[in-house]
Amino acid sequence: MVRDYSSVFDCLVVGSGISGLAASRRLVEAGFSVMVCDKSRGVGGRVASRRIEGAPFDHGAQFVTRRSAEFSKIVEDLLIEEVVIPWFGEAGKERYAGLPSMNQIAKTLAEGLDVKRGMRIENVRFCGDYWEVSSEAELVRSRSLLMTCPAPQALDLLKSEATEPSSCVLNTLSKIEYDKGIALMALLKEPFPVSDSGFLQYDDPEPIATVADTLKKRGLESPGVIIQSGPDFAERHFDSNPDTIIECLLDAYPRSKELKIVSTSLQKWRYAKRREHGISDSYSSDPSIMLWHAGDGYVAPKVEGAYLSGLRVAESVAAELELKLK
Ligand SMILES: Cc1cc2nc3c(=O)[nH]c(=O)nc-3n(C[C@H](O)[C@H](O)[C@H](O)COP(=O)(O)OP(=O)(O)OC[C@H]3O[C@@H](n4cnc5c(N)ncnc54)[C@H](O)[C@@H]3O)c2cc1C
Repeated sequence: MVRDYSSVFDCLVVGSGISGLAASRRLVEAGFSVMVCDKSRGVGGRVASRRIEGAPFDHGAQFVTRRSAEFSKIVEDLLIEEVVIPWFGEAGKERYAGLPSMNQIAKTLAEGLDVKRGMRIENVRFCGDYWEVSSEAELVRSRSLLMTCPAPQALDLLKSEATEPSSCVLNTLSKIEYDKGIALMALLKEPFPVSDSGFLQYDDPEPIATVADTLKKRGLESPGVIIQSGPDFAERHFDSNPDTIIECLLDAYPRSKELKIVSTSLQKWRYAKRREHGISDSYSSDPSIMLWHAGDGYVAPKVEGAYLSGLRVAESVAAELELKLK
């Protein structure tokens, strides 16, 4: 039985990562009706956290930066609400950690939005005047479609025969590629000082790219480390079983013998870090069929870049909706 939403939304946003949330907030502020859907159980996409024996671990983004005026404003608000705290970095290059975890940033940005969790979009079809977008159990109509999932996932959805985005959009999407990534979270019996700041980034990202010390990060939780692999390691081990990956990652980490591990958890990211490309646009679009794509595929491959792409795409969607609704 498919649930058919009778109302037509002004915009359906696929993805409740930071770009989807930024765009949705801006569109709702401008008075448009917006539905956000995400295949995951929670919001935030790659700004993701989980608990191991009660202790929060971030298995996606470890911190946010604030280089732009727009995102600085958000970080200021989050500092006041105690949703982020300064972690490390010299003046002008500070990094901020989420409180009690990075995912709280996304939860805060999602407040007041209509987010349908656990809704995986399987088909998108432009019907001349509106989009029909469906998951296994739901059918939604909207005047515009904003996709904020990584470009390869957006391309898969757009390949349906009924939809014909301009070749310009398809070309742009096909140039946005991602490396895989693997994060190992380990709850520890004793504190393990990774570095003075609690974050270590290797110059050569193979096989280990970064190590984060969860105790130093916020001073709140039980001791733990998050070891993030480099892209080559992830590519080689992605389909191995989790126990083998954990063993290989620990073997690759020179200080693993010092870790007093209580419990571990693993996260594999098929689309972890966007590769460098020559695209300077903040989003791609085909207004003739009211279609947009945004996210960390544009601006910069990080949380702040995703946020800025979301803000800028919202201005474009709003302008076209205003013309359409006149
Ligand atoms: C391991 C790791 C470490 C990182 N470290 C940092 C860091 O320290 N600092 C930093 O700034 N950045 C970091 N990043 C990058 C940062 O997390 C991303 O750039 C940013 O979060 C991307 O946001 P987004 O909205 O573009 O995409 P996403 O967060 O990927 O959001 C896309 C959303 O679309 C949803 N979706 C996909 N397909 C469908 C579908 N068919 N139907 C419904 N929903 C769908 C997904 O579930 C997801 O929630 C890291 C990333 C990884 C993976």
